[in-house]
Amino acid sequence: MEWEVVIGLEVHAQLATQSKIFSGAATAYGAEPNTQACMIDLGLPGVLPVLNKDVVRMATKFGLSVGAKVSQRSVFARKNYFYPDLPKGYQISQYELPIVEGGQLEIQLDENTSKVIGITRAHLEEDAGKSLHEDFHGMTGIDLNRAGTPLLEIVSEPDMRSAKEAVAYLKALHSLVRYLGICDGNMQEGSFRCDANVSIRPKGQKEFGTRTETKNVNSFRFVERAINYEVDRQIDLLESGGKVMQETRLYDANKNQTRTMRSKEEANDYRYFPDPDLLPLEISSEYIEEVRKELPELPHEKRQRFQQQYALNAYDASVLVSSLDMADYFEAVVNTVGSGNKAAKLVANWVMGDLSAALNKDLLDISESPVKASQLAGLIKRIVDNTISGKIAKIIFETLWQEGGDTDSIIEKQGLKQITDTGAIEKIIDEVIASNPQQLEQYRSGKDKLFGFFVGQTMQATKGKANPQQVNELLKKKLDG
Ligand code: ADP
Ligand code: MG
Repeated sequence: MEWEVVIGLEVHAQLATQSKIFSGAATAYGAEPNTQACMIDLGLPGVLPVLNKDVVRMATKFGLSVGAKVSQRSVFARKNYFYPDLPKGYQISQYELPIVEGGQLEIQLDENTSKVIGITRAHLEEDAGKSLHEDFHGMTGIDLNRAGTPLLEIVSEPDMRSAKEAVAYLKALHSLVRYLGICDGNMQEGSFRCDANVSIRPKGQKEFGTRTETKNVNSFRFVERAINYEVDRQIDLLESGGKVMQETRLYDANKNQTRTMRSKEEANDYRYFPDPDLLPLEISSEYIEEVRKELPELPHEKRQRFQQQYALNAYDASVLVSSLDMADYFEAVVNTVGSGNKAAKLVANWVMGDLSAALNKDLLDISESPVKASQLAGLIKRIVDNTISGKIAKIIFETLWQEGGDTDSIIEKQGLKQITDTGAIEKIIDEVIASNPQQLEQYRSGKDKLFGFFVGQTMQATKGKANPQQVNELLKKKLDG
């Protein structure tokens, strides 16, 4: 039997405000436990929440950026449940009337395939505190600093059909909230986390199968693994005559498996009702238009511009714009190097190739790169003007990475200037040919492959500094002549 996988994601993006969604308490990460929760966050009797206007602006920005309807009237509701890290006994969220409804996000799957994923809604809510299970033997610690931190919960349609698509969607969303400046995207700190709803159905069947929801997966890699684990588990279950139970599960990264957390609650278990302490949120169409004007260039717009302005292919452009920092870095290099599209392609190759590889190896973000955009530009300039070959450039890049400095002084100090003087190259070629008479004979009697041998010998004799194109041309002339 062939199975089709169906995935919908609920993403919680922590909004990058200074203070909480309904109080003036700070949201800064990493403070001493229980030093940043005030009376309002705890819901002590007699306090009144006041909505932080920055969260409205941020949610509006998000809605506009995915082509959604930004509702001029939305309502905060109480979602009632008991949990030790929720001392109020309810979470303020939006239920029937969320601020953002309907929208879409395009994801790039590979060079030629993209797909549009529907966004059902996005609503504002407050975060709960945190239960700390480590460091407390036989007990659980409660840190309420996170209580009242603003979240935008972004709910997708069940439009994804593989773990790979889910990760692509999550990455596109992550990139978008960073572009918009509404979330710092720090997944380790929990600023961007995801619940994965997964079900399977026989290929061709119209109705969805029963889904499970795996909670709070906080890295792209874990999302992929958790989904794949869940898909395999459900297939095994159904193929052995069992049934998938609708439930909430937890992903254990150490064991790479998911396990039952609780059976799925229904909306009516929560006794939602409009929060009597908060007025409905009303925003004017003028306000929405004002926010629209503040929207930055969005990832897909930047990608199109990169393709046009720098003649990049769709794939290169989509990789470069996937993070705002990378896109900015690329443009800073291109603008310094100048001299047109050929250089832009070269810059793209360097940023996506050698630079990204070095960053990955040292687990650094591009914003932390030891080789700054100006330094990479200095290097690429010397490739473009033929001072050095691509091969020497790799050696210089390594030096820039390890020791810093600038390309021109490294070329000077280490004598790496490319040899482009035809006479000088010819002289070396003559020597190489003279000292390899046997290979010369074989080459001339038809063993074409030996051409590479002569190129190698010549490059070695010049320590890689001869201009490769000239070496090829001159060798051909001499060997064939
Ligand atoms: P809840 O709020 O109870 O989690 P929702 O109806 O809001 O339920 O759905 C939450 C998420 O689950 C959405 O992202 C939706 O796309 C996804 N989803 C719903 N049904 C399925 C299904 N059968 N398989 C996979 N995902 C699903
Ligand atoms: Mg849910």
